This record gives sequence, C-alpha cells and structure tokens, in this order.
Amino acid sequence: MKATVITYGCQMNEYDTHLVESQLVSLGADLVPGVDEADFVLVNTCAVRGKPVDKVRSLLGQLRKVKAQRPLVVGMMGCLAQLEEGQQMARKFEVDVLLGPGSLLDIGQALESNERFWGLQFKDELHEHIPPAPSGKLQAHLTIMRGCDHHCTYCIVPTTRGPQVSRSPDDILRELDLQLAAGVQEVTLLGQNVNAYGVDQGARLAGYPSFADLLRLVGRSGVRRIKFTTSHPMNFTEDVAAAMAETPAVCEFVHLPVQSGSNRVLRRMAREYTREKYLQHIDEIRRHLPHAVLATDIIVGFPGETEEDFQETLSLYDEVGYDSAYMFIYSPRPGTPSYKHFADLPRELKTERLQRLIARQKEWSARRNAEKVGTVQEVLLRGDAHDAGFLEGHTRGNHPTVVPKAIGASGAGVYPVRIEHATPHMMYGRILDAFGEPLPEQPRLNPEAAAVTSPLQMA
Ligand code: SAM
Ligand code: SF4
Repeated sequence: MKATVITYGCQMNEYDTHLVESQLVSLGADLVPGVDEADFVLVNTCAVRGKPVDKVRSLLGQLRKVKAQRPLVVGMMGCLAQLEEGQQMARKFEVDVLLGPGSLLDIGQALESNERFWGLQFKDELHEHIPPAPSGKLQAHLTIMRGCDHHCTYCIVPTTRGPQVSRSPDDILRELDLQLAAGVQEVTLLGQNVNAYGVDQGARLAGYPSFADLLRLVGRSGVRRIKFTTSHPMNFTEDVAAAMAETPAVCEFVHLPVQSGSNRVLRRMAREYTREKYLQHIDEIRRHLPHAVLATDIIVGFPGETEEDFQETLSLYDEVGYDSAYMFIYSPRPGTPSYKHFADLPRELKTERLQRLIARQKEWSARRNAEKVGTVQEVLLRGDAHDAGFLEGHTRGNHPTVVPKAIGASGAGVYPVRIEHATPHMMYGRILDAFGEPLPEQPRLNPEAAAVTSPLQMA
C-alpha cells in the first residue's frame, strides 16, 4: 500500500500524523509525498475554526473525483472526524475510514476491514503508546497530555478531544529517550493546557509531578532545548517560571494565550482569569526570566466585543509588548456555548479590528526583532531556505531566522548566529565560528542571483 497523510491544524495534529504514519509503516505501507502516487489518502483535520473545515471539505471533494477514476481509499482523522459536522461530510464525500482523535491506533483494523470503518472512541491504550522517534530531524513534538478540562465558550476542542488525560512521566521520558537517541536536539512538550499536567478532572494523579517538576525532569534528560505549548494562564504558577529559569535547556520562550484584554470579554469566554491576573503572570515570568520572549493568541470580534473592549486588547498588547501573536477572527463553531447563545458580530467589523491588531503586532515584532540585531542567538537550522544558498531555522525564542550557508555549516544543526538584520517576521544573520567570527560563506553556483535574492541585501 502507498499512503500519504495530509495534515491541517496545530502541532498536536502534526504529532498525531507522525504517530499514524509510523503505524502505517509498521503495517507495511510505503509513505509517498502526494495524492498522485497514493492508494490511501488520510486527511488529518482541524475543526477549531470554520476556515480549516472549509479546506477539508474542498479537499474531500477533490478526492471523491480521483476516487471516481481509480481505486483509492480515503480516510479522515483528527478533530473534525469526531464531530457530526465531519461525519456528514464523510458520508457525502464517500470517506472509507474515519478515526477520531482517541481512536488513532485503530488504523490497522480500519485498513483490514473491507467495509467502511468508523472509530470514534477515546481509548486508553493511546496514552501509553510510544511512537518511534522521527528520523533525521533535529526537532520533535512530545504529547504529554490529551484532551482538555476547560470549557472556553468558543472552543470545540473539549468536544473533539475529550477530557484531559495526562501521560505518565515514565512514558514521556521513554519517548524522549528514543528521540534523543535519534539525534533530536529540541523537543516541544504538547498539551492543550500543559500547566494542568498531572491534575486530570480536578484530581492530582499519584506519582505524577507538577508541570514545573516535569520541566525539571525533562531538563535532566540531556536534551539541548525544551519548549512547550500551550500554557493556559488559569493554571500558570510562578513555579513554572522558576523551573524555566533554573533549567538551562528550557528555552526562555513562553506562549501564553490571552485571547482578550477585556475582563468583560474574558468572562464571556469563560477563560477563568482576569486581565490583572494575566499581567501578574507576565510579571512573574519577567522576574525569573528578564529576557523572556513572549507570544500569545488573540481572538478578535468575540460576540458582544465593543470598541472599548477591543481598545483594552490593544492596550494589553502594548503593556506586554509581545514578540509575536497568533491572531484570529472569532469563528462560531456549531456545538459551542458561544455559538448557541451569542450573536456573531458583522464580518466587516471583525476584519477591520483584526487589521488594526495585526498592525500593532507588526510594530511590536519589528521593535522586538530589531533589539536582537547585533546579538548572538543560538539558532536551530532545519535545512534549506527558499533562497538557494541559505538555511532557515529558529532561535530559542522561536524567531524565524535565515543565514547563508557557510563552509563547515551547510546543513541542519544548532549554531551560534550573529543577527545582522531584522524585519517584523524574520531575522537574518551569519553563522559564527568558535572565536565569534562569521564562518566563510559557501561559494554559490550563481553568485549574482544569490546577491539579488540575499535577504542580507534587503535592508
Ligand atoms: N488550549 C489552548 C489555550 O487555551 O490557550 C488553545 C488551543 S486552540 C486549539 C488554539 C487557539 O485557537 C486558541 O488559543 C484560540 O485563540 C483559537 N480559537 C479557538 N477556538 C476559536 C474560535 N471559535 N474562533 C477563533 N479562534 C479560536
Ligand atoms: Fe479550547 Fe479553552 Fe481548552 Fe484551550 S483551554 S483547548 S481554548 S477549551
């Protein structure tokens, strides 16, 4: 069988894609890069907003056309598969295999079955399953918990992914050991609310460390860089900031989604913290990590958001001065409390507020990135950048960075880089040698073309 998995959505979906791909390989499948070569296409879906749902609908329509012309098995997994909305789509577009986020290990059974197979249960075995490490990669994801016990009024995740289940620290460390043996240098610990690790449905699990202590444990594994996401402000404790500061491998990067700067909106979102509490956490982070890089998620145009509420979001943005932000227009998701009970705001109003927020974000990202010019950053270079002769990667603070290939540094690796130029969304620099001098650049096949496209020339 030749299989391909197409992934939409978050890092958790990327992790699940890797998990299912490794199952497929162990079932004897060849992983192929595209639909044309495949006889099994599995779509890993996202249901958090309307846009990714529309993308899946359009892809499934195209796959139905391919299916009409040649034998093809089509599968759907991820959040949308768990919802009636996704199941209706699956019926309409003749999807053969449907796996909810809790039934991923049913993939073998699904492919053996000669009939349509739908798996929608949340199965415990998934939490103990340890996928093999990704091969040839410096970065890996590691799921430390699944599901979510919060009920933010706009969010479909608790429905699609079920209640929170923390994975055992032993399983986490065993999976990390495999990743380290495979050469992974940066691991990102994943969960919807990592700060609540070890406390499922309000009960602390015996023998499970707090999230802060898990960071300390993972820090002792020998992994070079540790990141984590997502950190819910409601369960953030100062001990997490302390653990970050005292564990050198933990990167000084915190993604703390605020969603809104207005207490009125936060209450209607049921986020369970106030603006003041959120800012107190930012102070705690800065006290322990004065150079912390801060990122957030913001939803604009939540039902009932007034201009005054939105101004509070802008003023909070200025108060924190984030390095970066994921910004979303509120998307009403069927089945969520806000969809049922609150009227959506006009599209134009939401779009206009998003534009103003993006402008503010650009100003801050430009300022934050400019502060890095002249500094030396540890950059994990993943491999070739879009421009020939360049490599791309990211700093410990998650800033996307591009450098010219150098003699002795022409591929993936972790290098010291002096930042020479910055835009709001990218930093450019040169790899340094052991004496802090730029390594000689690799000769280019077409130096003229490289000079034209060099980001270092674009200042
Ligand atoms: N668990 C994380 C938290 O609470 O911070 C967030 C996980 S959610 C999958 C990722 C982001 O999607 C959220 O932080 C939120 O900004 C956004 N999001 C979720 N539901 C949304 C909706 N209905 N409309 C717009 N954005 C939404
Ligand atoms: Fe959704 Fe809220 Fe849970 Fe995050 S904490 S996944 S936004 S319900």
